Formats: sequence, C-alpha cells, structure tokens
Amino acid sequence: MKHIFLYGPPGAGKSSVGKALAERLRLPFADLDLEIEKSADRTIPKIMEEQGESAFRDLEMKTLKQVANESPRVIALGGGALLREENRGYAEECGWVVFLETKIETLVERLRKEQDQRPLLNGNLEEKLRTLLEQRKGHYDSFGIRVSQSGQSILEFQKTPEQIALEIQQKLNLLCVHAPDGNIYDVVVQPGGFDSLGGFLSERKLGNPVAIIADETVANLYTEGAVKSIEGAGYKVRVLSFPAGENSKNIDTVMMLWREMLKIGLDRKCTVVSLGGGVTGDLAGFAASTLMRGMNWVGVPTTLLAMVDSSLGGKTGFDLPEGKNLIGTFHSPKMVLADPQLLKTLPETELISGMAEVVKHGIISDPELFYLCSRGLDWIKDNLEEVVKRAMAVKIKIIEEDPYEKGVRASLNLGHTVGHAVELVSHFQLRHGEAVAIGMVAEAKLAERLTVATKGLSDAVAESLSTLGLPIQIPKELPRDEIIRAMRLDKKKNAKAIRFALPAEIGRVELVDVTDLEGVLED
Ligand code: NAD
Ligand code: ZN
Repeated sequence: MKHIFLYGPPGAGKSSVGKALAERLRLPFADLDLEIEKSADRTIPKIMEEQGESAFRDLEMKTLKQVANESPRVIALGGGALLREENRGYAEECGWVVFLETKIETLVERLRKEQDQRPLLNGNLEEKLRTLLEQRKGHYDSFGIRVSQSGQSILEFQKTPEQIALEIQQKLNLLCVHAPDGNIYDVVVQPGGFDSLGGFLSERKLGNPVAIIADETVANLYTEGAVKSIEGAGYKVRVLSFPAGENSKNIDTVMMLWREMLKIGLDRKCTVVSLGGGVTGDLAGFAASTLMRGMNWVGVPTTLLAMVDSSLGGKTGFDLPEGKNLIGTFHSPKMVLADPQLLKTLPETELISGMAEVVKHGIISDPELFYLCSRGLDWIKDNLEEVVKRAMAVKIKIIEEDPYEKGVRASLNLGHTVGHAVELVSHFQLRHGEAVAIGMVAEAKLAERLTVATKGLSDAVAESLSTLGLPIQIPKELPRDEIIRAMRLDKKKNAKAIRFALPAEIGRVELVDVTDLEGVLED
C-alpha cells in the first residue's frame, strides 16, 4: 500500500474528500497545510507574509517528507505543493497522486467563504483564481489520475465527498467492502488477475487445503488454470463440481458439497474458492458458512451478474421447491476477485442479461455509468473493467449503508418488483436480466404517473436497455392479471401496499408504497 496524495487548486475539497477516503480505507488522514502550520506554529498567510513563497515551499517540502515517512495514509496537499519538480517526484515515488477536477464557479463559491486564509488569492478572488489556474494549467493538466467533482445526470450535480472517495478507490483499484461482522474484504477488479489467484490467497494468509467449487461448465473452462495458480502458491487443491444451472441450487447439492468437503479433510481453517456465477456463489458461500459453523471463502465471479451483484454483500443460500432463495445466511467472503477477461467465454445472452443489473446500478446512483451503458454492447465489451468497477462500487455503497436489508438496500430492488413477477409468469422463459429490464421500464413509467419522476425518464431507460439488446415491454402473451397476482404473492407480508424502488431521476431512487396495484402496469 502506498500513500494517496490528493491534489488540485485551492478550494478543490482535498481535505473533505481526503477525510472520507481515509475513513473508507481505514487509513490515517493528514492535511499538509495544517501540518505545516503546526510545525511552524504560525498560519500559512503569516509564513508567506514574513518569509515569502519560496521559504514556504521549502517548509512544505520538509513537512511533506516528514508526513510521507509515516505509514501509508491519505494526504491532502496544498494547491501548489507539487509545483517544484523535486516535490512532485518525491510524491509520485511514494504514492498515487490523484487530481481533483473542479469547476471554477465551484472553487470561487467555496473560497469566498474562507477568503482571508488564502494569501495567494487576496484581492479580486475570481480574477486572481483565473490567473492562477491559467498559470498552472500545464502543471495541473499533467496529472494522469483525475476525478471530476461534478457529474452529469438530467441536471448537472455536485458529487458528495463520499462519492468522490469511492470513485478514487475505483480508479486506484482499492475497492473494499466493510462488512457488518467487522470483516473488511478487498474487491479486486483486474484483467488477468485470475492467473494470480494463488498469490491473492497466500497474501491474505488463507488456510490450506483449498476446495474450488465450480459448476461443470465453468470447471471445464477454468479449474485447470485455477488449480495451477493455487498449487503454485503452495496449496493443496481439490475441485468439487455440480451440473450447471439454477436447478442445482438445492439442498442435495449442498449436502454433496458438505460431504465432499469433509471427505477431502477440510476443516475450519481451510479455504473455499467459489469459481462461477451466482448459482455457484450462493451454494459455495452457503456450504462455507455452515460447515463446522463457518469457514473462509473467496469469491471469483465468472458471470457479469455475479461480478456486479451476487458476489458482493455476503448473501448465500439455495432454493426450496416452495420458492427461490428461501434458505440462506449472511457470510462475507475474505476477498472477491473479478477478472473481466473471464467474461470472454460467457455466452452473449448471459452478458446482456447481466447488463440489466449494470444499468440498474447506474440508475440507482451512478448517472455516468448509465450514460456509458447507452453506448451499446460493443463499447461495453471493450470497456468491461471500467463498467464492472463502477457497477460494483454502487453495490458496495448500498450494502455498506444497509448490510441487512432494513432500508436503502431496497433500492437494489429497482425493476425487480415487476421483474420477478414477469420472470415467474413467463415460467422462467425470460432470463432474470430480461425480466428486470422489462420491470425497470414499467416501474419508470409508474414513477412518471405518480410524479416521482419527470416525463421522459422511462424513454431514457427504455432506450438504453434496448440499445443493449434487452427487452423493454411485457410480452403480449403474458396475462397482466397474473403478473399483478404474482407481485402480490411475492410480497405477501403486507399485500395491500407494495413498496417499490422507483427511479426519481437517473442517479436517484425513491422508495414508494403503492396501493393501486391494478394501475401499476398501465401504459
Ligand atoms: P449461473 O451461475 O447459473 O451462471 C449462468 C450460466 O453461465 C451457467 O450455465 C454457467 O455455467 C455459465 N457460466 C458462468 N461463467 C461462465 C463463463 N465465464 N464462461 C462461460 N460460461 C459461464 O447464473 P448467474 O446469472 O451468474 O446467477 C444467478 C443466480 O444468482 C441466481 O440463483 C440468483 O438467485 C443468484 N443471485 C444471488 C445474489 C446474492 O446476493 N447472493 C444476488 C443476485 C442473484
Ligand atoms: Zn437481479
């Protein structure tokens, strides 16, 4: 782990973003300007006034070195801290430098509130700032890792420090989940990362031997590579597999896994690797969470749905004849490794189906992701790393806020209230993602009718989904009344009203109780 330096012009919010980032990564936070003031026992304006800018920059360098000598941390830098080549070289050697891009209007607004503390900007603030930015343009533009503070939804909006922090984690590949049991697990998104699976396990000191659990399709494609990599890291490895498909997600498969795990001598200190889609993750996670009251497991998702959705959040389980996912546990993994290259062998229909969840995550809280999805499947295939990282970040944000599904996690239900019912009434002829796509459009139309959303939102959602090859209308042959009945049954606890997660705009969802279920599917 290296230091993370936050850089940008005065007023870029380096301290507030830095604090949010440090908290997420559980790293200490340092504000270089405050450290300088502490060690000089004077304010920066005073130092500038008494000794001039050059002496201040000397002090800045000295303090930078002192702070960077400590254990890895998030460090907010002053707006000109890296002007000197020496400082820049030093910072880039011992850390990542992340540049915060901010519009001048925002900078001016923020700086007005604290004008007297910025010696280089005394006088006409806006004019001075423009000159400063002009002078430093080449310098500021030369930093490669950049995060923009404003985003584009239907309207332009200002991101919160937490959103920016998560985006920085995405860019630096430092995503992690803070699980409610206190476990923090890394989420590594890395093309080619699969080849280093063994190394990832031994870095985390996970126990020997290792059981790889995979369905037969994935086992044929990938266990040879996984075994090689894990054995290469000094582990003994066994592969346990079962027939591919939802039909295997039952107690019989779980029983087989438990017994095979015992047969190969697995105990609480050993490790389970789930290699596969959501079915495998749910089964392997469940077996790992229950055998001997729980053992360590690692998720290696191989479908898009598993990467962006089921591998995160620690939900495990299996189906009963009475319904899907009726038995389960929460048991967070020790790590999730998503290698987008594994998606190359995934049938296109599965990839498209997974894209419905990606679009959903965009609508819930990442408008940029939503607009990227609108570029179509070819673009997506060429940019899977970016798409997967962004979509995972949305899910991480939500499960951290609400790990046990008591509140905001319900926003992940977007498109699913109608979607599940449509999936069921189609007798699973529609894939999950296809049904969710249909559900998202129907629910966006409902949001417009209830004036939760403004007109046009459902068209935007429908256009994006159909560009990706997803259906957007309930097939004519599916009876509407059966779909409504299925919705009611699905949520039978309070059948009078159903709580919908409705899109309010691209990037924001509202939870709304709907009583007039007959009206839900009107066009
Ligand atoms: P899946 O695991 O059945 O995978 C779909 C198909 O793709 C399978 O036939 C599989 O063999 C094949 N496959 C997987 N990876 C491949 C690859 N790289 N190349 C070629 N073929 C590959 O299904 P899924 O869509 O990944 O997951 C659906 C399941 O996830 C459902 O059971 C659902 O309930 C569950 N789920 C769980 C959660 C959770 O939070 N735990 C969330 C959402 C969904
Ligand atoms: Zn889903």
